Amino acid sequence: MLIGARFERGTETEERVLNPRTGDLIEAIPEASESQIDMAVAAAETAFRTWSRTTPGERSAYLLRIAQAIEDDAEGFAALEALNCGKPINAALNDEIPAIVDCWRFFAGAVRSMPAQVAGEYLAGHTSMLRRDPIGIVAQIAPWNYPLMMMAWKLAPAIAGGNTVVFKPSEQTPLTALKLAKVLADILPEGVVNVVLGRGESVGNALINHPKVNMISITGDVATGKKVLQAAARSVKRTHLELGGKAPVIVYDDADLEAVIEGLKSFGYYNAGQDCTAACRIYAGPKIHDNLVADLSSAVASIRYNQQDDTQNEIGPLISKRQRDRVASFVERASELPHMQITTGGHVAGDKGYYYEPTLVAGALQADEIVRREVFGPVVSVTRFTDPEDAIAWANDSDYGLASSVWTKDVSRAMQTAARLQYGCTWVNTHFMLVNEMPHGGLKQSGYGKDMSMYALEDYTAVRHVMIAH
Ligand code: NAD
Repeated sequence: MLIGARFERGTETEERVLNPRTGDLIEAIPEASESQIDMAVAAAETAFRTWSRTTPGERSAYLLRIAQAIEDDAEGFAALEALNCGKPINAALNDEIPAIVDCWRFFAGAVRSMPAQVAGEYLAGHTSMLRRDPIGIVAQIAPWNYPLMMMAWKLAPAIAGGNTVVFKPSEQTPLTALKLAKVLADILPEGVVNVVLGRGESVGNALINHPKVNMISITGDVATGKKVLQAAARSVKRTHLELGGKAPVIVYDDADLEAVIEGLKSFGYYNAGQDCTAACRIYAGPKIHDNLVADLSSAVASIRYNQQDDTQNEIGPLISKRQRDRVASFVERASELPHMQITTGGHVAGDKGYYYEPTLVAGALQADEIVRREVFGPVVSVTRFTDPEDAIAWANDSDYGLASSVWTKDVSRAMQTAARLQYGCTWVNTHFMLVNEMPHGGLKQSGYGKDMSMYALEDYTAVRHVMIAH
């Protein structure tokens, strides 16, 4: 772990970090003790005194060096991420690392040009100006699906904004966080970022309840987000919540079927569906429905995984046996319903590791569990609609509100639908694509924190008014 300028091992229970492709042990890593967590928070507190007073230009220079260090060792970071998460190496190296590097670079630029209302005499004889100042010590807690990317989304805006951080990766995927900790220790002043390891119920819980932590940022399950809110309520800490999703995909009859199939094959199954924006809940119009189910089934059946030559793999296994069994149980319960057809997949795959077949479930109805709950695996459902009003109502009929998409050649229909969807993001004729200039975040139980974009920098800074009497 990184505590101040020191690297040290945790002293508590060992967590077994496993290779999801094989189930073999990679490393057993002990978790942090309460006193180690206290020391990390104290290191962040000391660092805050000087870091919070550096200029945006100075912080920007540090962020650019971090981006460069990741880019220079892209293959090393990608290989370790692929090992720990089971991701295909091409996905880690060619999709994720460039986006991660760009995230650090984006915030290096953004912090130097934060927008605000102009200063002026809004009361005669007084000049008002706005400031955006850091919040203090931020505890940041990340999930296992994109460990290094979540670390970039969280750390870059937080430290760009002048905060100091105690970061906890998922206990299942701590390896790239440790590798990046080494880079951060070489580049940043002592204590600006500290990395502690351990489980949510122990180390995570100690962090969110720590009296000296001013803000909690978490990406994870809705249930975990609720625990964060309870902890935050005790001392009125700021919170930044990025929780789950169940993205609806409305496909109108006039959509370009080929583009829909190609898109959904990628965006429904990327990262083995372990993605909070995954295109997992399709509503298909009456005329396109049957062709969509037939063509998507063949496309999904062709997804390559568990190949000896990893450069051929399009998706990897699930992160753990527990997650795979959870996915399998969703499909099992769905398959017991008489109106449901598993048109491809539906089984555990491979004789080792945590693979599950890419699966398409047709005939799903709005009330079905597979339509309502986040599966977080390579499973997509299709529901037929006849009235477009139903499609929009069903799409919005969810506890989640993170991401959605609409597929049609009719621009007005696309815009009218996008305007009515209650989701943090709506894509038209695509899905899943993110850019660092635009925010990622949800509505409803998906949380309200924004990652990426100027809005993340706003979340990690406090607006302050300074008024001068003439
Ligand atoms: P999780 O909530 O179990 O764990 C997330 C993190 O929270 C881990 O580091 C864990 O150790 C920690 N944690 C768990 N219990 C805690 C507690 N009581 N106190 C403090 N920390 C605690 O989620 P997961 O299974 O790792 O990740 C999958 C979930 O994350 C899915 O629901 C997914 O939708 C969501 N997710 C959301 C986004 C987004 O941007 N909205 C992105 C990725 C993942």
